Amino acid sequence: MTKTLIHGAQVLVENDQFADVSLLIDQDRIAEILPKGACVADAKPLNASDRLIIPGLVNGHTHSHGALARGGVPDDAILESFLSGSAWLNLGRSHDDLVLCAQLSAVELIRKGCTACFDLFIELPRPTVEGTHAVAHAYHETGMRAVVAPMIADQTIYQALPGLLDAFDGPLKDAVAALSLPDWESTIEVCTDALRHWPASNDRVRPGIGPTIPLHCSDSFLQACARLSEEIGLPLQTHLAETRMQQIMAQRKFGTSLAEHLSNLGVLSPRFSGAHGVWLSDPEMALLAEAQAGISHNPMSNLRIGSGIAPVRRMADAGVTLGIGTDASNTSDGQNMFEAMRLAATLSRAQTIDSADWVRTREAFDMATVGSAQLLGFEKLGQIAKDWIADLVFLDASYCHYTPQRNALDQIVFAETGAAVREVMIAGQMVFAGDRILTLDEPALRTRALAAADRITHANADARVMNAAAAEVVKGFCLRNCAAH
Ligand SMILES: [Zn+2]
Repeated sequence: MTKTLIHGAQVLVENDQFADVSLLIDQDRIAEILPKGACVADAKPLNASDRLIIPGLVNGHTHSHGALARGGVPDDAILESFLSGSAWLNLGRSHDDLVLCAQLSAVELIRKGCTACFDLFIELPRPTVEGTHAVAHAYHETGMRAVVAPMIADQTIYQALPGLLDAFDGPLKDAVAALSLPDWESTIEVCTDALRHWPASNDRVRPGIGPTIPLHCSDSFLQACARLSEEIGLPLQTHLAETRMQQIMAQRKFGTSLAEHLSNLGVLSPRFSGAHGVWLSDPEMALLAEAQAGISHNPMSNLRIGSGIAPVRRMADAGVTLGIGTDASNTSDGQNMFEAMRLAATLSRAQTIDSADWVRTREAFDMATVGSAQLLGFEKLGQIAKDWIADLVFLDASYCHYTPQRNALDQIVFAETGAAVREVMIAGQMVFAGDRILTLDEPALRTRALAAADRITHANADARVMNAAAAEVVKGFCLRNCAAH
């Protein structure tokens, strides 16, 4: 019997209204939305009394490698000092570590009501076919829906930011100047092989490509990524105007803003999304909208490392497709899409007293579901409607957040933390129930994670000291440059 009839719940239909209806699930789809009490002879009944059912949240931007880097980012780090100071956390990782990270990320995402993510994972010194495919397999086996995109660059931060190397002297300057990344041609060659010969079902886990930050990528490299995106139909994501420093450096390096630079190179397209977009100008938003490109708004990470508050209303008014993401568990300390959605709604209220410009609860919910799904390139994902994908989250309607319940959608966006998540279904299959992930052994995962973290910490002790010293110089350079503009 492949059909399931979910009954007894309040269901958020088409991200609009809660209704007392039943859901007929056939394989991975919502086959029908039926009136309360309807019977379907060949379907297995699933009693969901005391549940609020919403579509699974979709994470528009994360990095699974951050799962093994928790607590490794100093609390006074800015983005650039994080990139230089925390590099040691990603060194010496095996393919098993990549798998472990994807599993750890997937577990937290699922437990907190997220059913799909856009993962820019890193493998150093560059991606391999085996490593990329191992990450894809890990998501597939966990049951998670994902875009798996190798995060790649051909310049270190010391090569990427004009004038940065001059801020160093002595042996530390020699050490950071000696760092390098593989040439872009060989990186693209590996990515082409890995992404063309995809090991997982495209229904669940898809390939993507992630040139990390435009400043860290040569023009030819970015154009090669865009060509690959077009040829294979891959979503392409980069960190776009995440910090003020990036925009200052773009003017110095390219003589243009970041989005204009990407537009000139032909990188913008409907498959393109930028993460963050905190420092985008109005003309840049117009370029993104014209290309039907999107932005993943990652408010927790923007706050944690002091990047700023993204101009969400202006981006929406300009016509930019908007999703919501958590960013990695290093820079936002977790994978909580409810938290990201709540911040998207509430931070807009700190930007203006005019409520017409606030991000309303329905809008935040749409961004965290159908909006992010567009960035991932999945169709019919992110709402509960006939023929849409059956990725569902079951919330406990008797939990304190909903006692009393007056406006369920407002209460979910403003109050839910993931604490009321009781079951999670992905592609019509339960992956979480009874406070347990059903697709893997969580205690064993924790044991492996602690051992891997211990090994990484000890093996990279020297790099850690060097990174910390470099991060101080990088931070000083950034503060001086931002103060001068
Ligand atoms: Zn990121």
